[in-house]
Amino acid sequence: MIDANVITETSQELPDSVNADSLNQKASYDRNWAETISLLEKEIGPAAVKNWIHPLVFIAVREQRLVLSAPTRFLADWVRSHYADAVRRIWGSIAAPVFSLEIEVDAESATHKAQDQDNTDTPQAPAPVAQENAAHLALESRLDPRFTFDNFVTGPSNELAHAAAQRVSESQDAVFNPLFFYGGVGRGKTHLMHAIGHDIQARFPGRSVVYMSAEKFMYQFVRALREKDTMSFKDAFRTVDVLMIDDIQFISGKTTTQQELIHTFNALLDQGKQVIIAAEKSPAEMEGLDERLRSRLGWGLVVDIQPADLKLRHEILARKAKAAGKTVPDNVLDYLAEKIATNIRELEGGLNRILAHADLMKCPVTLDTTKAVLSDLFRAHDRKVTIEDIQKKTAGFYDIKLSDMLSARRLRSIARPRQVAMYLAKKMTPTSLPEIGRQFGGRDHTTVMHAVRKIDELMEKDPKLSADLTRLEESLKEL
Ligand code: ADP
Ligand code: MG
Repeated sequence: MIDANVITETSQELPDSVNADSLNQKASYDRNWAETISLLEKEIGPAAVKNWIHPLVFIAVREQRLVLSAPTRFLADWVRSHYADAVRRIWGSIAAPVFSLEIEVDAESATHKAQDQDNTDTPQAPAPVAQENAAHLALESRLDPRFTFDNFVTGPSNELAHAAAQRVSESQDAVFNPLFFYGGVGRGKTHLMHAIGHDIQARFPGRSVVYMSAEKFMYQFVRALREKDTMSFKDAFRTVDVLMIDDIQFISGKTTTQQELIHTFNALLDQGKQVIIAAEKSPAEMEGLDERLRSRLGWGLVVDIQPADLKLRHEILARKAKAAGKTVPDNVLDYLAEKIATNIRELEGGLNRILAHADLMKCPVTLDTTKAVLSDLFRAHDRKVTIEDIQKKTAGFYDIKLSDMLSARRLRSIARPRQVAMYLAKKMTPTSLPEIGRQFGGRDHTTVMHAVRKIDELMEKDPKLSADLTRLEESLKEL
């Protein structure tokens, strides 16, 4: 969804004429928006609505895009990455469906922000590319100015994808054709594609680069069908040198659109034009794909982006903080990188939120404020404690070897910690007694049951043991 990813500055467009009709329309949109907010509240809770949705202003519905404005870039970013789908879905259930959500950053507050801080990341108007193709077919790509190679941090999980992206943008001729990126959400696929776009524009200003989401491809194709004007649709792609289609999983199961996409790809590939695709799954794994399209997509280079490891997550955060011109202590970066492991977009969202908080409250970023500000986020991320975690922590706590958790040794100084670990495994995980026994060196479930009873009993009489258990449990919850 390019459109949801692009933040534009407040549009120059003004309502063309203020007549009774448009006023009625506006009033009805305002009602729709109010209703959207109240339904959203049921889904994401009143606090989130108050913090993130209330500051938004309804602007317009333009060509099936819902356009809102946000007072700050932080807010726009946050809403875009967390609530865009929900807003779009709920709006669509009340009013006519919209296919994207666009959040403009109100230019005035953006200017204030730029004065407050030397922010290299101030919103700029996205650079339009290849606009001249067909008058009524919007083939222009709005590349996010932040998504450049310079801003892309590499690590083992993405270096191959990054190298392939660079190779493609450096080359005069098509290489790895098509180039196919895949990986879960928030791993940097869209970022890499935009980076290719920027780089090609800089190196080869004459080349026409088109980036669009598969969703937009479909939308425009369907419109061309409806208007019985598929010729101009096809023509528009003829002069393209580099075509990038993002989130191609969106058109799985959509047969007609897939057929058109095959034609488009074939025409371009035959002329030696570069095609670049991104999707959440590899061509082989994607469901609902036309077999010809599947095989086409697998022809060139298929490269995955894996989840970022801890080091890369830390590095990305450090870079983003620096780009925002903010000082964030290392322990805060460590904490965020450790806690938010799933998705770089969420990682960034977390950072933005603590920066916004520090800005608003005029206080420095510390580990304590970070924990407080992001507590709701972390609850959602709370990792489930595993038996292995319990064994490790308990062994460490009592200073015995991890292997002794599984061994047959019956020495009290080893047997007791082992019982403590079994007790915690029962208490803190949903594992059955036989399975716990199995994970403690293949013991019988009656042994586990005995351990649980024993520790229960001892805790009543032994305050030291009881305190130890509380501490252990807390340190496990903090993992
Ligand atoms: P995807 O398209 O895979 O869902 P995006 O390209 O939209 O993911 O990336 C999500 C966010 O994470 C973007 O803000 C992007 O800039 C950032 N991001 C992802 N990978 C990196 C990286 N390696 N270095 C810097 N930022 C990254
Ligand atoms: Mg993407």
